Amino acid sequence: MMSKQIALVTGGSRGIGRAICLELAKSGSFVVVNFRSNKKAAEETLEIIHQAGGTGETICFDVANQEETGHNIEALLMRHDAIDILVNNAGETADSLFALMSLEEWMKVLNTSLQGFYNVTKPILMKMLNRKRGCIVTVSSVSARLGQRGQTNYSAAKAGLEGACRSLASEVARLGVRVNVVAPGLIETEMSQNLPKEIIKQIIPMGRVGLPEEIARVVRFLCSDEASYITGQVISVNGGMI
Ligand code: NDP
Repeated sequence: MMSKQIALVTGGSRGIGRAICLELAKSGSFVVVNFRSNKKAAEETLEIIHQAGGTGETICFDVANQEETGHNIEALLMRHDAIDILVNNAGETADSLFALMSLEEWMKVLNTSLQGFYNVTKPILMKMLNRKRGCIVTVSSVSARLGQRGQTNYSAAKAGLEGACRSLASEVARLGVRVNVVAPGLIETEMSQNLPKEIIKQIIPMGRVGLPEEIARVVRFLCSDEASYITGQVISVNGGMI
């Protein structure tokens, strides 16, 4: 019998990340639920995984901190030998008009999304390349392509991720590793709770906000063998926005 696949989901404690953890666990992976500060939420995610008959563990590190991330991934790879699936989902916003944006707000968003991608993906990729097997999915945003007032930092980070993933996919396509991006539109989570949803809904052709599960199902598909010929793609899941 094949042993369980090991999946690491960054920012798996809440929102979209939690839904991804659950989908991957339901499809048979042992899921490592990463969080930065909300231990309670991460433990709740693990509990939901267990209730669904799945397995996993939680792990605390700030993806923006290279040293902390490096140590934790090293320990993770010692415990599990390899990571089969990596979902770069951790992300945050610090919205402000660019003219008023502090360097701190700019760096905070880039450090979690873009630097975080480097910090987490690099050590895991090396192991995937050694085994000639692995799947990486990164969560971007419709904001990578759609100019949004107050989100120059977030748009820069997400557009950067899409570019990085396309390049990485072409570097490793012949080496057994697939790299894809899922770009959600407006999704019902804590991150979007203060946005003017009634106004935004008017520019969503489907006329509604998406659910975390609707993102998670696409991530699960991209991580499965059913998606064996898909790499270097950005899949939009946004109710038809653009
Ligand atoms: P939430 O704010 O609900 O959850 C964010 C998650 O990321 C939490 O688990 C949080 O951990 C974790 N996190 C944040 N920063 C770090 C960090 N530096 N290191 C480790 N973990 C971190 O966000 P969503 O679920 O809404 O968003 C998930 C992803 O989807 C993000 O990349 C976001 O940009 C993207 N997205 C979301 C959209 C939406 O409308 N919600 C739309 C488009 C894209 P902790 O619990 O410890 O705080």
